[in-house]
Amino acid sequence: MIVSKPEGPLGKYPQLFRDCDPKVVLAVVGSWWDLSGRFPLPLFEIKCPQCAGPSVIYSQCYFHVRDGSPSRYRADVQCKCATCSFAFVFGVVIPKAMFMAADQMQYNRREIREILGG
Ligand SMILES: [Zn+2]
Repeated sequence: MIVSKPEGPLGKYPQLFRDCDPKVVLAVVGSWWDLSGRFPLPLFEIKCPQCAGPSVIYSQCYFHVRDGSPSRYRADVQCKCATCSFAFVFGVVIPKAMFMAADQMQYNRREIREILGG
């Protein structure tokens, strides 16, 4: 159920569909996620959708290719709430360069922290 009125493709909350121009998709996704490094990093505070708590852990990143879409390269970012244990996933379209830089398909929290140096 859509509870808010969506705006157009260049509006504040554009809706992304699988057949959208990949340049538009990456521009929109890039306004929410930093896509310049090895992993998509949120440019917003992630709050738990269940308890609204701010103690959300970026627990895993899984890279994959979606055949049949112009925006083929994806990263599923799994998060987990350290307060209520709710786990959820963001499906992020990523640039081909980020996908090609990955030498394994799945990274856990420890591996991500090591690669990012913190
Ligand atoms: Zn929670």
